[in-house]
Amino acid sequence: MTNLIRSWVESANAPETNFPLNNLPYGVFSTDGGAPRCGTAIGDSILDLAALETEGVLDFGGTLGTGSWNSFMERGLAEWARLRTELTRLLSEGEPPRPGDLVALENARLHMPFTVAEYTDFYASRNHAFNVGSMFRGPENALPPNWLHIPIGYNGRASSVVVSGTPVRRPHGQLKGPNDEVPRFGPSRRFDIELEMGAVVGQASDGPLAVGEAFDNIFGFVLLNDWSARDIQGWEYQPLGPFQAKATATTISPWIVTAAALEPFRVAPPERELPLLPYLAEPGPMNYDIALEIGLTPEGGRETVISRTNFREMYYSTAQQLAHHSSSGCPMRVGDLLGSGTISGPGKASRGSLLEMSWGGREAIEIDGGTRTFIEDGDTLTLRGAALGNGFQIGFGECSGKLLPSRVLR
Ligand code: CA
Repeated sequence: MTNLIRSWVESANAPETNFPLNNLPYGVFSTDGGAPRCGTAIGDSILDLAALETEGVLDFGGTLGTGSWNSFMERGLAEWARLRTELTRLLSEGEPPRPGDLVALENARLHMPFTVAEYTDFYASRNHAFNVGSMFRGPENALPPNWLHIPIGYNGRASSVVVSGTPVRRPHGQLKGPNDEVPRFGPSRRFDIELEMGAVVGQASDGPLAVGEAFDNIFGFVLLNDWSARDIQGWEYQPLGPFQAKATATTISPWIVTAAALEPFRVAPPERELPLLPYLAEPGPMNYDIALEIGLTPEGGRETVISRTNFREMYYSTAQQLAHHSSSGCPMRVGDLLGSGTISGPGKASRGSLLEMSWGGREAIEIDGGTRTFIEDGDTLTLRGAALGNGFQIGFGECSGKLLPSRVLR
Protein backbone atom coordinates (compact mmCIF):
# COMPACT_ATOMS: atom_id res chain seq x y z
CA MET A 1 0.00 0.00 0.00
CA THR A 2 1.20 3.46 -0.90
CA ASN A 3 2.47 5.74 1.86
CA LEU A 4 1.65 9.37 2.58
CA ILE A 5 3.50 11.95 0.48
CA ARG A 6 4.32 14.72 2.93
CA SER A 7 3.53 18.35 2.08
CA TRP A 8 4.67 21.75 3.36
CA VAL A 9 0.95 22.35 3.97
CA GLU A 10 1.03 20.84 7.47
CA SER A 11 -2.73 20.09 7.64
CA ALA A 12 -2.34 17.82 4.59
CA ASN A 13 -0.18 15.41 6.61
CA ALA A 14 -2.88 14.67 9.22
CA PRO A 15 -4.31 11.13 8.96
CA GLU A 16 -7.91 12.44 9.20
CA THR A 17 -7.77 14.95 6.34
CA ASN A 18 -9.66 14.09 3.14
CA PHE A 19 -7.04 15.92 1.11
CA PRO A 20 -3.44 14.72 1.58
CA LEU A 21 -0.92 15.34 -1.20
CA ASN A 22 -1.68 11.84 -2.53
CA ASN A 23 -5.18 13.05 -3.42
CA LEU A 24 -5.04 16.40 -5.31
CA PRO A 25 -8.76 16.54 -6.14
CA TYR A 26 -9.94 19.14 -8.65
CA GLY A 27 -12.68 21.66 -7.90
CA VAL A 28 -13.94 25.12 -8.80
CA PHE A 29 -14.11 27.81 -6.14
CA SER A 30 -14.62 31.53 -5.62
CA THR A 31 -13.94 33.98 -2.82
CA ASP A 32 -15.72 37.23 -1.92
CA GLY A 33 -18.03 37.04 -4.93
CA GLY A 34 -15.08 36.83 -7.34
CA ALA A 35 -14.97 34.76 -10.51
CA PRO A 36 -15.05 30.96 -10.11
CA ARG A 37 -11.69 29.36 -10.92
CA CYS A 38 -9.92 25.99 -10.70
CA GLY A 39 -8.22 24.79 -7.55
CA THR A 40 -6.97 21.66 -5.85
CA ALA A 41 -7.75 20.84 -2.22
CA ILE A 42 -4.74 20.31 0.04
CA GLY A 43 -5.37 19.77 3.77
CA ASP A 44 -7.59 22.60 5.02
CA SER A 45 -6.80 24.82 2.01
CA ILE A 46 -7.24 25.22 -1.72
CA LEU A 47 -4.26 25.84 -3.98
CA ASP A 48 -5.35 28.52 -6.46
CA LEU A 49 -4.41 27.00 -9.82
CA ALA A 50 -5.72 29.96 -11.84
CA ALA A 51 -3.33 32.20 -9.88
CA LEU A 52 -0.43 29.82 -10.55
CA GLU A 53 -1.17 30.00 -14.28
CA THR A 54 -1.33 33.81 -14.15
CA GLU A 55 2.01 33.85 -12.29
CA GLY A 56 3.53 31.62 -14.98
CA VAL A 57 4.25 28.78 -12.54
CA LEU A 58 1.88 26.48 -14.45
CA ASP A 59 1.06 26.58 -18.16
CA PHE A 60 -2.02 24.70 -19.32
CA GLY A 61 -3.20 27.13 -21.97
CA GLY A 62 -5.24 29.26 -19.58
CA THR A 63 -7.68 26.39 -18.93
CA LEU A 64 -7.30 26.65 -15.14
CA GLY A 65 -8.89 30.10 -15.06
CA THR A 66 -12.05 29.05 -16.92
CA GLY A 67 -14.29 28.15 -13.98
CA SER A 68 -14.74 24.54 -15.13
CA TRP A 69 -12.47 21.54 -15.66
CA ASN A 70 -13.88 20.71 -19.12
CA SER A 71 -11.28 22.66 -21.14
CA PHE A 72 -8.46 21.13 -19.15
CA MET A 73 -9.87 17.61 -19.58
CA GLU A 74 -9.96 18.13 -23.37
CA ARG A 75 -6.16 18.53 -23.37
CA GLY A 76 -5.83 14.79 -22.84
CA LEU A 77 -4.16 12.12 -20.75
CA ALA A 78 -0.56 13.33 -21.05
CA GLU A 79 -1.58 16.77 -19.75
CA TRP A 80 -3.59 15.19 -16.90
CA ALA A 81 -0.44 13.37 -15.82
CA ARG A 82 1.76 16.47 -16.25
CA LEU A 83 -0.45 18.62 -13.99
CA ARG A 84 -0.48 15.94 -11.29
CA THR A 85 3.31 15.61 -11.45
CA GLU A 86 3.84 19.39 -11.28
CA LEU A 87 1.41 19.84 -8.38
CA THR A 88 2.96 16.96 -6.45
CA ARG A 89 6.36 18.63 -6.79
CA LEU A 90 5.10 22.17 -5.93
CA LEU A 91 3.35 20.98 -2.77
CA SER A 92 5.95 18.49 -1.52
CA GLU A 93 7.73 18.96 1.79
CA GLY A 94 11.08 20.65 1.12
CA GLU A 95 9.81 22.79 -1.78
CA PRO A 96 9.50 26.55 -1.15
CA PRO A 97 6.11 27.19 0.53
CA ARG A 98 3.66 29.36 -1.44
CA PRO A 99 1.21 30.59 1.23
CA GLY A 100 0.10 33.45 -1.06
CA ASP A 101 -1.44 30.91 -3.47
CA LEU A 102 -3.48 29.17 -0.75
CA VAL A 103 -7.09 29.98 0.14
CA ALA A 104 -8.64 28.59 3.35
CA LEU A 105 -11.36 26.06 2.45
CA GLU A 106 -13.67 27.66 5.01
CA ASN A 107 -13.45 31.01 3.17
CA ALA A 108 -14.21 29.60 -0.27
CA ARG A 109 -17.47 28.92 -2.04
CA LEU A 110 -17.43 25.68 -4.03
CA HIS A 111 -19.15 25.45 -7.41
CA MET A 112 -19.92 22.69 -9.90
CA PRO A 113 -16.44 21.38 -10.80
CA PHE A 114 -17.34 20.72 -14.44
CA THR A 115 -20.11 21.36 -16.92
CA VAL A 116 -22.13 18.16 -17.17
CA ALA A 117 -22.45 17.33 -20.87
CA GLU A 118 -24.91 14.48 -20.46
CA TYR A 119 -25.91 12.31 -17.54
CA THR A 120 -26.43 8.54 -17.65
CA ASP A 121 -27.39 6.44 -14.66
CA PHE A 122 -26.82 2.71 -14.23
CA TYR A 123 -28.26 -0.09 -12.09
CA ALA A 124 -25.15 -2.13 -11.41
CA SER A 125 -24.97 -3.23 -7.77
CA ARG A 126 -26.02 -6.87 -7.37
CA ASN A 127 -27.36 -6.37 -3.85
CA HIS A 128 -29.37 -3.27 -4.78
CA ALA A 129 -30.90 -4.91 -7.84
CA PHE A 130 -31.71 -8.04 -5.81
CA ASN A 131 -33.28 -6.07 -2.93
CA VAL A 132 -35.42 -3.85 -5.16
CA GLY A 133 -36.40 -6.78 -7.39
CA SER A 134 -37.34 -8.88 -4.33
CA MET A 135 -39.67 -6.17 -3.08
CA PHE A 136 -41.44 -5.80 -6.41
CA ARG A 137 -41.33 -9.30 -7.90
CA GLY A 138 -40.28 -11.68 -5.09
CA PRO A 139 -36.78 -13.15 -4.50
CA GLU A 140 -37.17 -15.85 -7.19
CA ASN A 141 -37.66 -13.24 -9.93
CA ALA A 142 -35.61 -10.47 -8.33
CA LEU A 143 -32.97 -10.04 -11.03
CA PRO A 144 -34.31 -9.19 -14.48
CA PRO A 145 -33.25 -11.86 -17.05
CA ASN A 146 -30.74 -9.46 -18.67
CA TRP A 147 -29.08 -8.28 -15.44
CA LEU A 148 -26.14 -10.71 -15.30
CA HIS A 149 -25.33 -10.00 -18.96
CA ILE A 150 -25.71 -6.27 -19.43
CA PRO A 151 -25.00 -3.10 -17.39
CA ILE A 152 -28.55 -1.66 -17.38
CA GLY A 153 -28.82 2.13 -17.61
CA TYR A 154 -31.00 5.02 -18.74
CA ASN A 155 -30.35 8.53 -19.99
CA GLY A 156 -30.92 11.15 -17.28
CA ARG A 157 -30.90 14.94 -17.27
CA ALA A 158 -27.63 16.90 -17.16
CA SER A 159 -29.66 20.02 -16.30
CA SER A 160 -30.71 18.60 -12.93
CA VAL A 161 -27.19 17.90 -11.59
CA VAL A 162 -26.31 20.25 -8.71
CA VAL A 163 -23.33 20.67 -6.42
CA SER A 164 -23.30 19.70 -2.74
CA GLY A 165 -25.04 22.23 -0.50
CA THR A 166 -27.80 23.04 -2.99
CA PRO A 167 -31.25 22.56 -1.35
CA VAL A 168 -33.64 20.15 -3.04
CA ARG A 169 -37.39 20.78 -3.25
CA ARG A 170 -39.81 17.88 -2.65
CA PRO A 171 -41.36 17.25 -6.06
CA HIS A 172 -44.96 16.91 -7.16
CA GLY A 173 -45.93 14.17 -9.54
CA GLN A 174 -48.52 11.65 -10.63
CA LEU A 175 -49.17 9.17 -7.86
CA LYS A 176 -51.23 6.00 -7.95
CA GLY A 177 -51.14 3.54 -5.08
CA PRO A 178 -51.91 -0.17 -5.58
CA ASN A 179 -55.49 0.35 -4.32
CA ASP A 180 -56.20 3.66 -6.11
CA GLU A 181 -58.52 3.52 -9.10
CA VAL A 182 -57.14 6.63 -10.75
CA PRO A 183 -53.90 8.62 -10.34
CA ARG A 184 -53.76 11.99 -8.59
CA PHE A 185 -51.21 14.82 -8.70
CA GLY A 186 -49.48 15.79 -5.46
CA PRO A 187 -46.24 15.96 -3.48
CA SER A 188 -44.14 12.78 -3.40
CA ARG A 189 -44.55 10.92 -0.10
CA ARG A 190 -41.78 8.41 -0.74
CA PHE A 191 -38.85 10.67 -1.54
CA ASP A 192 -35.51 8.88 -1.28
CA ILE A 193 -31.78 9.02 -1.81
CA GLU A 194 -29.50 6.78 -3.82
CA LEU A 195 -25.88 6.43 -2.70
CA GLU A 196 -23.78 6.30 -5.88
CA MET A 197 -20.44 7.23 -7.32
CA GLY A 198 -20.34 9.44 -10.42
CA ALA A 199 -17.64 8.99 -13.05
CA VAL A 200 -16.51 11.99 -15.12
CA VAL A 201 -15.69 11.17 -18.75
CA GLY A 202 -12.64 13.23 -19.72
CA GLN A 203 -12.15 12.26 -23.36
CA ALA A 204 -14.61 12.35 -26.22
CA SER A 205 -15.12 9.21 -28.31
CA ASP A 206 -17.12 8.33 -31.39
CA GLY A 207 -17.67 4.60 -31.70
CA PRO A 208 -17.29 1.47 -29.60
CA LEU A 209 -14.61 1.53 -26.89
CA ALA A 210 -12.91 -1.56 -25.50
CA VAL A 211 -13.07 -1.75 -21.69
CA GLY A 212 -9.39 -0.79 -21.36
CA GLU A 213 -9.85 2.23 -23.64
CA ALA A 214 -12.93 3.24 -21.67
CA PHE A 215 -10.93 3.04 -18.43
CA ASP A 216 -8.35 5.47 -19.80
CA ASN A 217 -11.06 7.97 -20.80
CA ILE A 218 -12.36 8.35 -17.22
CA PHE A 219 -10.92 11.48 -15.64
CA GLY A 220 -12.15 10.94 -12.09
CA PHE A 221 -14.97 10.35 -9.65
CA VAL A 222 -17.39 12.24 -7.41
CA LEU A 223 -19.92 11.13 -4.82
CA LEU A 224 -23.42 11.20 -6.26
CA ASN A 225 -26.87 11.26 -4.64
CA ASP A 226 -29.53 10.40 -7.19
CA TRP A 227 -32.63 11.71 -5.40
CA SER A 228 -35.61 9.51 -6.32
CA ALA A 229 -39.37 9.77 -5.84
CA ARG A 230 -40.36 6.13 -5.38
CA ASP A 231 -44.11 6.73 -5.60
CA ILE A 232 -43.79 8.69 -8.86
CA GLN A 233 -41.42 6.02 -10.18
CA GLY A 234 -43.76 3.14 -9.31
CA TRP A 235 -46.51 4.49 -11.54
CA GLU A 236 -44.50 5.93 -14.44
CA TYR A 237 -41.64 3.48 -15.00
CA GLN A 238 -43.16 0.86 -17.27
CA PRO A 239 -42.17 0.37 -20.06
CA LEU A 240 -39.51 3.09 -20.59
CA GLY A 241 -37.92 3.40 -17.13
CA PRO A 242 -37.61 6.34 -14.73
CA PHE A 243 -38.52 9.82 -15.96
CA GLN A 244 -39.92 12.47 -13.56
CA ALA A 245 -39.05 10.32 -10.52
CA LYS A 246 -35.36 11.04 -11.11
CA ALA A 247 -35.55 14.49 -12.71
CA THR A 248 -35.79 16.72 -9.61
CA ALA A 249 -32.10 16.79 -8.73
CA THR A 250 -28.92 14.75 -8.60
CA THR A 251 -26.32 16.08 -6.15
CA ILE A 252 -22.57 15.61 -6.63
CA SER A 253 -19.63 16.33 -4.32
CA PRO A 254 -17.56 19.40 -5.31
CA TRP A 255 -14.18 17.67 -5.77
CA ILE A 256 -13.27 15.39 -8.68
CA VAL A 257 -10.97 12.75 -7.24
CA THR A 258 -8.88 11.66 -10.21
CA ALA A 259 -8.51 8.11 -11.46
CA ALA A 260 -4.75 8.66 -10.98
CA ALA A 261 -5.21 9.27 -7.24
CA LEU A 262 -7.36 6.14 -6.94
CA GLU A 263 -4.96 3.91 -8.89
CA PRO A 264 -3.53 2.20 -5.73
CA PHE A 265 -7.06 1.25 -4.66
CA ARG A 266 -8.13 -0.84 -7.67
CA VAL A 267 -9.70 -4.18 -6.81
CA ALA A 268 -11.17 -7.14 -8.68
CA PRO A 269 -14.94 -7.29 -9.25
CA PRO A 270 -17.14 -9.80 -7.43
CA GLU A 271 -17.13 -13.28 -8.93
CA ARG A 272 -19.03 -13.45 -12.25
CA GLU A 273 -22.09 -15.64 -11.93
CA LEU A 274 -22.40 -16.02 -15.69
CA PRO A 275 -19.70 -15.42 -18.29
CA LEU A 276 -19.77 -11.93 -19.80
CA LEU A 277 -19.70 -11.32 -23.54
CA PRO A 278 -16.17 -10.63 -24.81
CA TYR A 279 -16.77 -6.89 -25.41
CA LEU A 280 -17.25 -6.51 -21.62
CA ALA A 281 -14.04 -8.36 -20.70
CA GLU A 282 -11.82 -6.42 -18.31
CA PRO A 283 -8.06 -6.47 -18.93
CA GLY A 284 -7.45 -6.10 -15.15
CA PRO A 285 -9.18 -5.18 -11.89
CA MET A 286 -11.19 -1.98 -12.47
CA ASN A 287 -13.33 -1.70 -9.36
CA TYR A 288 -12.24 0.53 -6.47
CA ASP A 289 -12.06 0.00 -2.72
CA ILE A 290 -13.76 3.15 -1.44
CA ALA A 291 -15.54 3.16 1.92
CA LEU A 292 -18.88 4.99 1.76
CA GLU A 293 -21.44 6.20 4.28
CA ILE A 294 -24.77 8.04 4.48
CA GLY A 295 -25.65 10.49 7.27
CA LEU A 296 -29.18 11.74 7.97
CA THR A 297 -29.62 14.93 10.03
CA PRO A 298 -33.16 16.00 10.93
CA GLU A 299 -33.96 19.72 11.16
CA GLY A 300 -32.37 20.99 14.38
CA GLY A 301 -31.14 17.50 15.30
CA ARG A 302 -27.99 15.44 15.25
CA GLU A 303 -26.69 13.27 12.45
CA THR A 304 -27.13 9.50 12.44
CA VAL A 305 -25.03 7.41 10.07
CA ILE A 306 -27.69 5.18 8.53
CA SER A 307 -25.54 3.09 6.18
CA ARG A 308 -21.94 2.04 5.49
CA THR A 309 -20.94 0.30 2.29
CA ASN A 310 -18.17 0.19 -0.32
CA PHE A 311 -17.79 1.04 -4.03
CA ARG A 312 -16.16 -2.37 -4.55
CA GLU A 313 -19.64 -3.92 -4.32
CA MET A 314 -20.31 -2.99 -7.97
CA TYR A 315 -20.92 -5.98 -10.23
CA TYR A 316 -20.01 -3.89 -13.29
CA SER A 317 -17.07 -1.46 -13.17
CA THR A 318 -17.34 2.07 -14.54
CA ALA A 319 -15.07 1.07 -17.43
CA GLN A 320 -17.47 -1.73 -18.37
CA GLN A 321 -20.41 0.68 -18.17
CA LEU A 322 -18.66 3.16 -20.46
CA ALA A 323 -17.66 0.40 -22.90
CA HIS A 324 -21.27 -0.80 -23.00
CA HIS A 325 -22.56 2.79 -23.36
CA SER A 326 -20.38 3.29 -26.45
CA SER A 327 -21.03 -0.19 -27.90
CA SER A 328 -23.85 0.95 -30.19
CA GLY A 329 -21.66 3.72 -31.58
CA CYS A 330 -23.02 6.26 -29.10
CA PRO A 331 -20.64 9.25 -29.10
CA MET A 332 -19.40 10.26 -25.63
CA ARG A 333 -18.50 13.82 -24.70
CA VAL A 334 -16.02 15.45 -22.38
CA GLY A 335 -18.00 16.10 -19.19
CA ASP A 336 -20.37 13.15 -19.49
CA LEU A 337 -21.39 11.98 -16.03
CA LEU A 338 -22.02 8.26 -15.39
CA GLY A 339 -23.88 7.35 -12.21
CA SER A 340 -22.77 3.95 -10.95
CA GLY A 341 -26.21 2.98 -9.74
CA THR A 342 -27.15 2.64 -6.08
CA ILE A 343 -24.41 0.87 -4.14
CA SER A 344 -25.70 -1.62 -1.58
CA GLY A 345 -23.68 -4.14 0.39
CA PRO A 346 -24.87 -7.58 1.44
CA GLY A 347 -26.18 -6.67 4.92
CA LYS A 348 -29.01 -4.56 6.30
CA ALA A 349 -26.57 -1.90 7.56
CA SER A 350 -25.04 -1.43 4.10
CA ARG A 351 -28.02 -0.57 1.94
CA GLY A 352 -27.72 2.46 -0.34
CA SER A 353 -31.32 3.72 -0.32
CA LEU A 354 -34.11 4.25 2.22
CA LEU A 355 -36.34 2.12 -0.01
CA GLU A 356 -34.12 -0.84 0.91
CA MET A 357 -33.37 0.21 4.51
CA SER A 358 -37.09 0.48 5.30
CA TRP A 359 -37.95 -2.43 2.97
CA GLY A 360 -40.43 -0.49 0.90
CA GLY A 361 -41.55 1.67 3.85
CA ARG A 362 -42.59 -1.30 6.01
CA GLU A 363 -39.75 -1.21 8.60
CA ALA A 364 -38.86 2.20 10.02
CA ILE A 365 -35.19 2.80 10.79
CA GLU A 366 -33.97 4.50 13.97
CA ILE A 367 -32.36 7.93 13.80
CA ASP A 368 -31.46 10.45 16.49
CA GLY A 369 -34.75 11.52 18.07
CA GLY A 370 -37.09 9.52 15.84
CA THR A 371 -37.57 7.07 13.01
CA ARG A 372 -37.71 7.25 9.21
CA THR A 373 -39.06 5.26 6.31
CA PHE A 374 -38.49 7.96 3.66
CA ILE A 375 -37.08 11.51 3.81
CA GLU A 376 -38.99 14.15 5.77
CA ASP A 377 -38.98 17.89 5.06
CA GLY A 378 -35.94 19.56 6.64
CA ASP A 379 -33.79 16.41 6.60
CA THR A 380 -30.22 16.82 5.36
CA LEU A 381 -28.66 13.80 3.65
CA THR A 382 -24.88 13.65 3.47
CA LEU A 383 -22.74 11.14 1.60
CA ARG A 384 -19.06 10.67 2.44
CA GLY A 385 -16.41 8.45 0.95
CA ALA A 386 -12.71 7.70 1.21
CA ALA A 387 -10.14 5.21 -0.04
CA LEU A 388 -8.09 4.23 3.00
CA GLY A 389 -4.31 4.22 2.61
CA ASN A 390 -1.50 3.59 5.03
CA GLY A 391 -1.92 6.50 7.50
CA PHE A 392 -3.85 8.67 5.04
CA GLN A 393 -7.11 8.72 3.12
CA ILE A 394 -8.17 9.81 -0.34
CA GLY A 395 -11.43 11.55 0.60
CA PHE A 396 -14.16 13.08 -1.53
CA GLY A 397 -15.44 15.82 0.80
CA GLU A 398 -19.18 15.87 1.41
CA CYS A 399 -22.10 15.39 -0.94
CA SER A 400 -24.92 17.01 0.98
CA GLY A 401 -28.42 18.33 0.36
CA LYS A 402 -31.39 19.43 2.47
CA LEU A 403 -34.96 18.62 1.50
CA LEU A 404 -37.26 21.64 1.41
CA PRO A 405 -41.07 21.29 1.59
CA SER A 406 -42.95 21.08 -1.70
CA ARG A 407 -44.30 24.33 -3.14
CA VAL A 408 -48.05 24.69 -3.24
CA LEU A 409 -49.04 24.48 -6.88
CA ARG A 410 -51.97 26.33 -8.36
CA1 CA B 1 -29.84 5.95 -9.62
